[in-house]
Amino acid sequence: MTPPRVRFMHLAPGEEAAAVDAAIRRVIDRGWYVLGPEVDAFEASFAGACQASHAIGVGTGTDAIAIILRGLGIGAGDEVITTPLSAAYTALACMMVGARPVFADLDPARLTLDPSAVEAQITPRTKAILPVHLYGQPADMPAIMDIASRHHLAVVEDCCQAHLATCGGRPVGSFGVAAAYSFYPTKNLGALGDGGAITTSDAALADRCKRLRNGGQTDRYHHAEMGVNSRLDEIQAAILSARLPYLKGWTDARRRVATIYRRLLSGTAVEVPPERDPGHVYHLFPVLSDDRDRLHARLRESGIETLIHYPVPIPRQPALASQQPAQCPIADRVCARIVSVPLYPGIPTSEVELVADAVARFTP
Ligand SMILES: *Cc1c(COP(=O)(O)O)cnc(C)c1O
Repeated sequence: MTPPRVRFMHLAPGEEAAAVDAAIRRVIDRGWYVLGPEVDAFEASFAGACQASHAIGVGTGTDAIAIILRGLGIGAGDEVITTPLSAAYTALACMMVGARPVFADLDPARLTLDPSAVEAQITPRTKAILPVHLYGQPADMPAIMDIASRHHLAVVEDCCQAHLATCGGRPVGSFGVAAAYSFYPTKNLGALGDGGAITTSDAALADRCKRLRNGGQTDRYHHAEMGVNSRLDEIQAAILSARLPYLKGWTDARRRVATIYRRLLSGTAVEVPPERDPGHVYHLFPVLSDDRDRLHARLRESGIETLIHYPVPIPRQPALASQQPAQCPIADRVCARIVSVPLYPGIPTSEVELVADAVARFTP
């Protein structure tokens, strides 16, 4: 197979490569690998970047969600209302703590939780709402917060695709009681391996999450409650600290690429989801087509790598078969029509034009 002319993304360190190398070397020379000075330093700077009082480094974004839920006392018998369109990990994290994910359908334009659909799913067992800022576009947080406060529900924000995004000018992650971030390599801020973080401005919740990520330990070898082992390691924390200063520039670059796509794709046969907030950080750039599978194949033949986020609504995954079925017709339709085109901070404009041209020439 010939390599694609246009890659979906490119994950080797670029302008920050020397800083990443130095960070790795520093950790190896220090000889301290788990929960040390690098994690402390990254937690402080990441909390600052998110305008949160506390950040807690954990093993993955999935664990970040699960640990927050456990920290809030959510578990067996409880329901968490979330979206059918996301990485399945959002719902799996609810199941990991024994809670039941309950799916409310999408706002068809924004592709995030529809607040009115959320309200219809509330039962006496509902404990939390878990919106996802999908593809980097903030969910409708004012409306979600209004519902949550009227029904006394916690809001936990899945910010795994939304580092530095804002909603109405306010940082995502600052609306709910806590937020979950992933540093999986493909995310807007990626480690060279797995990583995640919890942010919160609730000091008691921060303390509890810090304990829970480390086996429930209060002091060394003293376990106050059953926690998990999910720690961000020192090498990944050092790499993330080296990369964090570049994140704002990378985010601006993502937005510039999105602007070019929007201009070149207007008037073509594909539908481009609208930007509902200038705080959108474009983790991905999905387009919709009634003939998605043919579009996907045609782009591949033209040497353009595309991916489908996501082909299956979460409630239709076999892994969710034990859960109550959910009717989410809007999510069903989106999953049948959506495909993501290449977008990453360093993508050459010539490649963006190649992609847009190939999409424009596609006739269903
Ligand atoms: C990546 C992602 C997760 C899971 O993060 P991991 O670090 O891979 O566990 C959860 N939710 C969303 C929306 C994601 O994009």
